[in-house]
Formats: sequence, C-alpha cells, structure tokens
Amino acid sequence: MNGRWQLLRKAEKHIFAIVMSTQPDNQFQAIVSHAKEYGFVFPSSEIYDGLAAVYDYGPYGSELKKNIRDYWWKSMTQLHENIVGIDAAIFMHPTTWKASGHVDNFSDPMIDNKDSKKRYRVDHLLEAKADQLREKGDEAGADNLLAQMDALLAAEDFVTLKELIQAEKIVCSVSGTGNWTEIRQFNLMFATQLGSVAEESDTIYLRPETAQGIFVNFLNVQKTARMKIPFGIAQTGKAFRNEIVARQFIFRMREFEQMEMQFFVRPGTEGEWYQYWKEARLQWHLSLGISPDKYRYHDHVKLAHYAKEACDIEYQFPFGFKEVEGIHSRSDFDLTQHQLYSKKKLQYFDTEINQNYVPYVVETSIGLDRMFLLILANAYEEETINKEDGSTDSRVVLHIPTKIAPMKLAILPLTKKDGLPEIARDLMNECKPYFKCFYEEKDAIGKRYRRQDAIGTSFCVTIDHQTKEDQTVTIRYRDTMVQERILMSKVKDLVLEQLV
Ligand code: ATP
Repeated sequence: MNGRWQLLRKAEKHIFAIVMSTQPDNQFQAIVSHAKEYGFVFPSSEIYDGLAAVYDYGPYGSELKKNIRDYWWKSMTQLHENIVGIDAAIFMHPTTWKASGHVDNFSDPMIDNKDSKKRYRVDHLLEAKADQLREKGDEAGADNLLAQMDALLAAEDFVTLKELIQAEKIVCSVSGTGNWTEIRQFNLMFATQLGSVAEESDTIYLRPETAQGIFVNFLNVQKTARMKIPFGIAQTGKAFRNEIVARQFIFRMREFEQMEMQFFVRPGTEGEWYQYWKEARLQWHLSLGISPDKYRYHDHVKLAHYAKEACDIEYQFPFGFKEVEGIHSRSDFDLTQHQLYSKKKLQYFDTEINQNYVPYVVETSIGLDRMFLLILANAYEEETINKEDGSTDSRVVLHIPTKIAPMKLAILPLTKKDGLPEIARDLMNECKPYFKCFYEEKDAIGKRYRRQDAIGTSFCVTIDHQTKEDQTVTIRYRDTMVQERILMSKVKDLVLEQLV
C-alpha cells in the first residue's frame, strides 16, 4: 500500500535521495546497457523513441521476472498455510479510491518553471540544493534546509515552501531562471473513462497499488477459503503512478508490478505480527544468498495518524541505499474506511474470544521491478580472469541465484557432427520438462560459455566425443568456472537439487 501522500513520511526520505544523486553511476550504466543488450529490459516502444519511465521485459527478463514473482508467491501462499492468494482486477469501483484516501491525498507538491514549462517535484528541487551545499562542505546548511523542508511539507505550507525555493535562488536546469509558478498538489493516479460517453461519474482510475483489491475482497476470501484470524491475502499485479520525476531505470516507473500481502490479525496482536513480518521479509531476501551487508532497515520515525509502526527494507543499489520493500502496521484504517464508504460490515467473528471486530492489518509490499533491479545489480560482475599462461581475460557474469535464473542449464555439443547433437538433444528432452534449458551448437565453446555467463545460466554441459564412449559430460559451474566430468544421467538431478 502506498504511503506517498503521507507527507511526514516522505519528508524523512530526503537523505537517501541525496545519496542517490551524488553517486558515480558508471556501474549502474553498465547494468542498464547489459540489460538491454542481453534481452532483459528494453525501453518501451523503442522504435518510437521510447516512453518515459515505461519499460518492456525481453526474453530473459520476462523469465527472471516471472521467477522472482513465483519465488515470492511460493513463500507466501505455499510455505504459509494461513495465506491465500487472489488476482483482483486493475479497474475498481471509483469509490474505492475515495475511501482509501487516494483521490484526495495521493499527490506530490509540484512546481513549474514558467519559461521552460518544466515541472519539478518540490522536494527534489530542495534536495538537489542541499546536495550542492554538502558538496561545498556546508553540512549544517544542508541539514538546516532539509529540516525546513520537512516542517513545511508536513504543514503543507506551500506559500513558504515557494519562498524557500526563491530564497535559496534555485533555478530551472533548462531555462536557468527562477521564474516559478505557485506550488500545486499533483495527483499521481491515472484517470480514464468507463464506457464510451465521458461523464464525470464514469471516471475510473488505474490502480496505484494492488492492496485495495485485497481489502475490498476481505470478506469474500475469509468466507470462501474459511480463513481464521490470523491470516493473510497475497496478490501480485500491475500498479500505475504518474510519477513526475521518473529516474533510475526500472527503479521508478509509471507502470510497475507489486507483490503485496495483507495480514489480518486480532487487535492488540499487531505489534508482534509486525515484528514477525519485519524479520520474515528480510529473511526472504537473504534466502536468495544476498549478503546481509547489502541490506538495512529504515524505521519510520514519523508515522501517518493511523499507522502504528512502519519500516522500509533498503538495499544498497549502485546509487545508494534505497527502499525495495515496505512493512506497515496499518491498524484497522483500510477496512474501517471501506466499511464507512460501502456501508457494508467488514468484520470478523472471533470464536476464541466470542467477539466481533474489524481486524488490524500488517502489510508487506514489495515492487517486483525494483526486486528485479536489485537482483541484476547484485548479480552483475565484470571479472578479470588470470589464465594459466600468465595472460588475462575478462567476462561479464550474472551471478543470479539458480532458483530464479532465467536459464538453469545450457546444453552444448562440442561439434555439429559425429552424432553429438543427437546425444545433446536426448539430454535436452530429458531435462526441459523440469526446468529451462538452452541448446546451442554454434561457435567455439569458450564463446558459448561467455554468452551463458552474460545471461546468468547456472550450469553448462558440454557433450564431446568421450560422451559417446563413457556417457560422461563436462559440467561447468558459472560462478567458479570449475569444470568436471560427471555421468550424463546425473545432470538432471544435479540441477533439480538447486531449485528447491
Ligand atoms: P517511493 O518512496 O520509492 O516512491 P513508496 O513508499 O511510494 O515508494 P509504496 O507505495 O510503499 O512505495 O509501494 C511499495 C513498493 O512498491 C515500494 O517499496 C517499491 O518497491 C514499489 N514501488 C513504488 N512505486 C514504484 C514505482 N514508481 N516504480 C517501481 N516500483 C515502485
């Protein structure tokens, strides 16, 4: 669920935005180029010069994305017996967004430069200024500026905020002038019309988060799946936000995917469940073999009035520590709001205590695309290889965990003749019902290995003339490049063992 409109909460994030804007991003650029060159992520509608902050996933990217989604889905709905999934529609009744607060509050304060007509997020302008102060060594000045910004954002005092921008002599990077409009709130929801006749009442929104589809289905799910509190409802799906400043590749997109889970609990127990999910979600990340040093919690100090506790799980991206997932203890706010607007009871009868109540909610919310970027950033390595003859070579390798790698196994006959392709095809047919395999005959074996390294294939198996004699193959491990001979009949199980 989104917390964007919670100005208090957003204001405290400025520190991380600054880190982001000052980091050298050579490695990040290399990752973006690699993602395009090897069929992971393309700019959307690229032949028409692309569409800002919208991206398409290519052959390997769509596999990786699906694997991350499946890994999350399994951890939620298969490993937790008390969590079930749903798949709600993107379009929802417009009152949903009134009740949730999005129509009135899901907005960012924006300012336009009258000369260039360029629009800016107010917090981004002030953060950039603070950044400049810091570069000049004026730490106190930067802190002071951000503290003022926090207070004014929290008070929604846009007149004084504009005065602050002018006092700091902040200018537009395009026109170079400080000729600013008034500050206005800009709603981030995309609106469209239902049916062919455009009437005010037919305005509906592309959902800006998946969570509301869970809340409005709370009773349907609880009754049909006969769930007893505490229980969770999980969902993955597209969300849309008209982000004004969309940057950092797939980190901030206008169309993206979320993986959210709302956990419904008895009032009074939300504190312990919040701690449980805070820990469990970090463990999920670590279960992918990512170093704990790359993660940190960011506990929110200032909270929305209904929130009890909230934190972000942050990962150290090449552009600094940034949020990848949020864990929020949301009290009974959402269900109560929907009760109010729909005039339908959204309550649960707890037989253990003989009481009716609106359950409290602890939510976990992670961006699938952001997780994808995390995996790419964590996996990407430009490696120098020292060869036995003293010379060096290099490779780009993606150390993607085998469980979610787009390709698990490449099957490579050494030559195109002597019956080797036939043997390789037999192995292909044996393995491909179980996991994704790649078959290739073309080019020297070293070149083929490099191509597999670049897309993160965990294992390569080479079929050579010896295979015909003793049914062994050479297996090469992506991360260590170690090669060994094993029986061809063992290959399938060796890969399968890595997938559980
Ligand atoms: P941010 O402060 O980065 O805008 P947020 O606090 O608004 O994020 P939430 O509304 O809590 O984010 O959404 C939950 C998760 O959805 C985020 O942790 C992030 O992984 C993902 N997410 C949110 N907005 C975007 C976006 N524009 N593009 C990609 N992923 C997003």
